[in-house]
Amino acid sequence: MAVHALHAQTNADLHCHSTVSDGTLSPEALAARAKANGVELWALTDHDEVGGQQRAMAAARAAGLPYLTGVEISVTFAGKVVHIVGLGFDHEDPRIVAGLRATRGGRGARAKEMSDDLARAGIHGAYEGALKFAGNPELISRTHFARFLVETGQCSDVPEVFRRYLTEGKPGFVPHRWAALRDAVGWIVDAGGLAVIAHPGRYGFTPTEEYALITEFIAHGGRGIEVVTGSHTSGDMVQYTDTALEFDLLASRGSDFHSPEESRVDVGKLDQHLSGRLKPVWGALEHRIHWPA
Ligand code: AMP
Ligand code: MN
Ligand code: MN
Ligand code: MN
Repeated sequence: MAVHALHAQTNADLHCHSTVSDGTLSPEALAARAKANGVELWALTDHDEVGGQQRAMAAARAAGLPYLTGVEISVTFAGKVVHIVGLGFDHEDPRIVAGLRATRGGRGARAKEMSDDLARAGIHGAYEGALKFAGNPELISRTHFARFLVETGQCSDVPEVFRRYLTEGKPGFVPHRWAALRDAVGWIVDAGGLAVIAHPGRYGFTPTEEYALITEFIAHGGRGIEVVTGSHTSGDMVQYTDTALEFDLLASRGSDFHSPEESRVDVGKLDQHLSGRLKPVWGALEHRIHWPA
């Protein structure tokens, strides 16, 4: 039997996106890129969708890459959007499949409202324009609108779009009610997986709101938090190392890679490891890893 050695310094990348949500690479291309970039444990975590899991798993196996199933679920908490990553669950579990289908449900109508609001600001044809970029029409997202706004010269890059459009108070923003925290964590845990708070440094919560998020997350069965991610500053990584220790949460690591043209950090190319003081999520998920033959 092969001896599998995972440790704190393992180059795990447990957060990235394919064309099944708002990434620009197919699950197969991502698997190959992850392998080439030195990833030792991989999970594809498309938004609100597990339709790419079978393909990712097969491609990981072909590439010789250990694989964990993954998803990133959109949640509404305290009036803000929070993302919960699920790892190592049964991606065919009927409850998570149905729950994610319901979560995706409002995206089409939301996209049309976003387009109408952009039209009021003088930008026309955004719905059709964004849809062209969506590999999965059920998963039309703000990222696809952002690509349309760049393509048509309204903005020079995606970050500029999110500074000028599509966010609260700006043209193209449409509030949306996503899954409840309890449901998202429940779907993951009931399907045998581990729930992780994604990029906690991005939410702009007050300390009180963050405390509420973490304690409710734990009460619902959540066990992990992302510490090293492409969307954290080095200060965030120090802060959330302390948070993980304080709340006895397992620590996760992932690039949040979406696209070679857009993402700051490539898949497998995070330059920080988890602190040796942390317990990595993969220590609790060894039995859920799909090892290549
Ligand atoms: P949605 O799920 O449709 O609300 O779209 C959310 C997606 O937009 C996120 O998953 C990111 O990929 C992208 N996004 C949100 N904020 C930003 C930002 N400031 N810069 C770049 N991409 C962003
Ligand atoms: Mn995204
Ligand atoms: Mn996210
Ligand atoms: Mn993400």
